Amino acid sequence: MARIVQKFGGTSVADLDRIRAVAQRVKAEVDAGNEVAVVVSAMSGTTNQLVEWSREIGPVHDAREYDVVVSTGEQVTVGLLAIALQNIGIDARSWLGWQIALHTNDVHGSARIESIDTDKLDERLSSGQVAVVAGFQGIGPDGRISTLGRGGSDTSAVALAAALNADRCDIYTDVDGVYTTDPRMMPKARKLERITFEEMLEMASAGAKVLETRSVAMAMRYDVNLQVLSSFSDQPGTLVVNEEQNMEQQKISGIAYSRDEAKITLVGLPDRPGIAAYIFGVLADNHINVDMIVQSASADKTQTDITFSLGSLDVEKAIGVLKAEEQKLEYKDIVGDVDVAKISIIGTAMRTQPGIAKTMFSVLAEKGINLHVISTSEIKISVLVDTNYTELAVRSLHDAFQLDEA
Ligand code: ADP
Ligand code: ASP
Ligand code: MG
Repeated sequence: MARIVQKFGGTSVADLDRIRAVAQRVKAEVDAGNEVAVVVSAMSGTTNQLVEWSREIGPVHDAREYDVVVSTGEQVTVGLLAIALQNIGIDARSWLGWQIALHTNDVHGSARIESIDTDKLDERLSSGQVAVVAGFQGIGPDGRISTLGRGGSDTSAVALAAALNADRCDIYTDVDGVYTTDPRMMPKARKLERITFEEMLEMASAGAKVLETRSVAMAMRYDVNLQVLSSFSDQPGTLVVNEEQNMEQQKISGIAYSRDEAKITLVGLPDRPGIAAYIFGVLADNHINVDMIVQSASADKTQTDITFSLGSLDVEKAIGVLKAEEQKLEYKDIVGDVDVAKISIIGTAMRTQPGIAKTMFSVLAEKGINLHVISTSEIKISVLVDTNYTELAVRSLHDAFQLDEA
């Protein structure tokens, strides 16, 4: 007997037929003698609609009330799945975040999980009852409903698997695993049998939304056995594993892209020590996350331009913050651009194989794609390009690195 956490995303619970199909997958695990906790998302499209309504009724709104609204999608699906399970003879009970309780910090709208009470769930699971848990939500220190940020149900599932000491955490979605790149953009993308935690973490943070970044970090920290598979087919999925278990010797493992990027350039800054520390200090104080940074000096070395990238939703706020500092910073101009996308190539082989950056830059140059900003980590190279080159860049790199070949 094993203890399993199964997570079903929005398209997997998109309508009543899909929910019935999910109930059958849960039943199969119960029939095999396993203890099962199921985490579900809202029906696909629901959370978008709820977010939109919150924006429409008040563009600047109270994050506590935003959480009350956007968490409701999951309340519907846990109830419906519990009923569907009961109807096929499975003992099941639904659980909202506050009922478990899943405790978070007080950052409403993008709360972090702090702890999960497991006593009640443990007892129910041991007695053979299926726990159907609402993803994406918890309870804050203020006693109010909190949500974990978009895509957060993956994190709910992994956190629950860690807290319940589950043997496996199976993430069911609308593709049958992690591919070399988004299969919806690149039909030639190849499904990976395995991917390392580190690579998956970089892929997720670079925009591959098949797993939410925090869920991967958590699975890595708590040694959760994680796999991604489809709720629409019975194909084997992708296992997320430690490096030593991964024998694939590809130059790179995958390509990710994100169109939710923007860049800001500060033109003609005085080139003096402390200026970068000041700029990025002010941005951090305002909770603005900066991703890539380049600084270029002028010919006479008295002036410098600094360009950095950030999430497109933060651009207006960042420009406002920096304009308020104009007198101190003495820049000549500030320019924002939201028509940029980040393209990243990822692979642990980069540590040992030289020339990967050269190949990437030559391929993009051959296609006439200009690179605005470049950044690298040990196992990732990211570049910022004009948004309308996203597909061309991903496809050309996928071909050049022959990722369709096993
Ligand atoms: P869910 O609602 O189940 O959480 P998501 O839409 O969040 O599903 O994530 C699944 C989607 O992730 C897929 O439909 C696919 O388009 C996208 N995706 C992006 N990059 C990848 C990748 N490398 N491998 C697989 N899917 C990817
Ligand atoms: N329903 C939430 C969202 O759409 C959480 C999730 O699906 O993971 O962001
Ligand atoms: Mg998701």
